[in-house]
Amino acid sequence: MKVTFKRGVHLSYANKNATKSLPVRDFVSDEVRIIMNMHIGAPSVPCVKKGDHVLLGQVIAEPVGFLGIPVHASVSGEVTDVGTIPYLGETPVQCVTIKNDFKDEWAPLTPLGDVETVDPALIVPAIKNAGICGMGGASFPTHVKLSPKPEQKCELVIVNGAECETHLTCDHRLMLEEGERIVDGLRAVMRALSVERGVICIEDNKPDAIENMRRLCATRSGVSVQVLKTKYPQGGEKQLIEAVTGRQVPVGKLPIDVGAVVCNVGTCAAISDAIRLGRPLISRITTVTGCVKEPANLRVRIGTVAEDMIGACGGFSEEAGKVAFGGGMTGLCIPNTDIPTAKSTNGIVVYNEKDAKSIDEGPCIRCGKCVAACPIGLNPYLIKRAADADRLDEAARLSVNDCILCGCCSYECPSRRWLTASFKIVKQKLAAQAKAKGGKA
Ligand code: SF4
Ligand code: SF4
Repeated sequence: MKVTFKRGVHLSYANKNATKSLPVRDFVSDEVRIIMNMHIGAPSVPCVKKGDHVLLGQVIAEPVGFLGIPVHASVSGEVTDVGTIPYLGETPVQCVTIKNDFKDEWAPLTPLGDVETVDPALIVPAIKNAGICGMGGASFPTHVKLSPKPEQKCELVIVNGAECETHLTCDHRLMLEEGERIVDGLRAVMRALSVERGVICIEDNKPDAIENMRRLCATRSGVSVQVLKTKYPQGGEKQLIEAVTGRQVPVGKLPIDVGAVVCNVGTCAAISDAIRLGRPLISRITTVTGCVKEPANLRVRIGTVAEDMIGACGGFSEEAGKVAFGGGMTGLCIPNTDIPTAKSTNGIVVYNEKDAKSIDEGPCIRCGKCVAACPIGLNPYLIKRAADADRLDEAARLSVNDCILCGCCSYECPSRRWLTASFKIVKQKLAAQAKAKGGKA
């Protein structure tokens, strides 16, 4: 049976055809620029200096605080800079630059062995030491997600293979080519949390991935595939949980509060590597598509610069209007192609000048289409009215902080109102206000 969640949108385009049939191709660049804030939480602190020689997988930055994770060298070679670079936000971020010696000499590793026999108590610390955070886009540190409070009981692990975003095919290819790593990582998570049931969720537009993952699940205990209807944003944590369990995660609560933990397929594969091989997270698959000559699913080292990846895809096929990290609904425009990719960079999409043009917004005609589309059940047109008048308190009362910035309201709006973009700004202002008051957003 195919399942889904309430509301959301059926996208009229997916733009996946250019890459969905292309096997993953390795690309290793001359240099990597590894930023220190690839995860949610305090940035890691560099523990190497310019001129140091580093080995592949060596810790180059130490974790800070409860949410902290270490950062590892994604190539072996010489540290050529420890400084700051401009990134996606307004504030420059710390970055360690390493010139690749192409020797791929690994730092000493400590494999824990088979995920089915390893001591479950060792799994979460190994995940933290491997620097793993959510690879589906959210970048939440995985060891924290897998450390519920005593009163929170996990009954089900959901693996997100929906890949409902436009343009992206990296998860699809991972499920087709390296599905064993996903099932292995899922089993490790289940054993760490003492959970009997794990479900890999895949949209029905990927029948080959469904077949492959079903085949692999048949050989392991407690794991299965759940087919989802193709709908956006099916890969959202709360939407997945609603589809699979029928349970709604209450406002302000987490998946674990309804007994579930959700991990992306890429995150599960990284967990498998951390346990079986003792390897930290040093690479990922990223889809490079749009106006490039040879679209691809590239396996790149963390910190590979966008320009190098576009170059590896033959360069621009026409004049680029904008370049974004991520898919068409939630991707973030990058200010220039000198920006490095991070652990959560699942795609680079190049748009031509026509597609990059922003459209003027029209007046609200009170059609209610945004309300019908919102998967969270918000009133986007009312929040927008509050946002336009800078009435932050009103926007907060209308639960703007529960907005997942999925873009469904903007997609459906016939007046092309800049709904999601406004909500992002309002959320940032509310977070800044809360920080100034010393509280939480
Ligand atoms: S962007 Fe926010 S308000 Fe708009 S549909 Fe998504 S969750 Fe709802
Ligand atoms: S979809 Fe657009 S025009 Fe319709 S109610 Fe929402 S904001 Fe107004």
